[in-house]
Amino acid sequence: MLALAGHPLGLELVFVDPNPDAPAGQVAELVAADYGDAAALRALERCDVVTYEFENVPLDVTRRIAAATRVLPPPRALEVARDRLLEKRCFRELGIPTPAFRDVGTERELGEALSELGLPAVLKARRQGYDGKGQAVIEDASAIAAAWQRLSPDYGADAFILESKVAFERELSIIAVRGAAGDVRSYPLIENRHRDGILDVSIAPAPGITPELAREAEAHARRLLEHFDYVGVLALELFQVGGRLLANELAPRVHNSGHLTIEAASTSQFENHLRAIVGWPLGAVELTTPACMLNLVGALPDPAPALALGGAHFHDYGKPARRGRKLGHVTVCASTAELGLERLERLRAELRAPGGEAG
Ligand code: AMP
Repeated sequence: MLALAGHPLGLELVFVDPNPDAPAGQVAELVAADYGDAAALRALERCDVVTYEFENVPLDVTRRIAAATRVLPPPRALEVARDRLLEKRCFRELGIPTPAFRDVGTERELGEALSELGLPAVLKARRQGYDGKGQAVIEDASAIAAAWQRLSPDYGADAFILESKVAFERELSIIAVRGAAGDVRSYPLIENRHRDGILDVSIAPAPGITPELAREAEAHARRLLEHFDYVGVLALELFQVGGRLLANELAPRVHNSGHLTIEAASTSQFENHLRAIVGWPLGAVELTTPACMLNLVGALPDPAPALALGGAHFHDYGKPARRGRKLGHVTVCASTAELGLERLERLRAELRAPGGEAG
């Protein structure tokens, strides 16, 4: 999607991905190599600017490249975002409310943290967790040992945080972009619904957002962007609890909930990310239409029902199918977010792929 946004702007893009099937290879030059591979480093160091759209690129590689050319967003933002403990501490330092948390290195510390935070709680691996992986919800005391036994063998020492489980009303994300001159723009808040820990549906604009809540989210995003002297797109995932927002996660990159900005915003998150890192003026971020997005996970359905629906846009990433993998998405634009959601849910039933998880 970055490649598709960059091409009409006249940008020459080179992608590095260890996977030779990476979708970027279908539309742009792909160096299929490990991130630290010599050929990959040479290809990247030649670029005017290097960016990333995946948190788990090795930090030492981004630092090495940063010695040769510009890396944006700054590697420090990546370092913080890929470690839940650093991330939560950063929220706390910046005065951004977040669920109560403790760092946990051993089973004994887990017990101590639970007695401080109380139940229910969520044990999370600090690193390498995404889409709900590396997490265990601990609802009652009988689940503590099992959670530890399940997660601890896969992660090293000092590898966890424990968070209070929040009884949120809904999940939201704010996508913001900061340009090279420090100008900040925020897309309207998006509501996100998950299935099995994976983003299922995004709704924009999130219905029922008060001006106060919007301002609060924008202020949180701005504080993060300025803290890192950030350039590019950043997404902040939030829990709405009553009239309050609690920060869950920071993504130093274009975000799945922002895929709908391709059709529903004046400038997509992908184009704005590229404009920012290249040092060009940012584009307008207002929505040109309400829209809802459905992720297509595990198997791709026949696109015909989506193609036949006015206002719907079908995206196939050209990835090999695999259980739990995001293979594409559909965005439905409509006159209101509620109408978009209704149409999307009807479409979901029609898109049900035989043996697939889509819908
Ligand atoms: P994460 O990988 O941290 O985004 O977590 C994946 C999903 O788990 C989130 O989108 C929430 O639905 C849920 N979750 C994560 N942390 C908490 C929490 N502290 N309280 C309640 N639900 C949570």
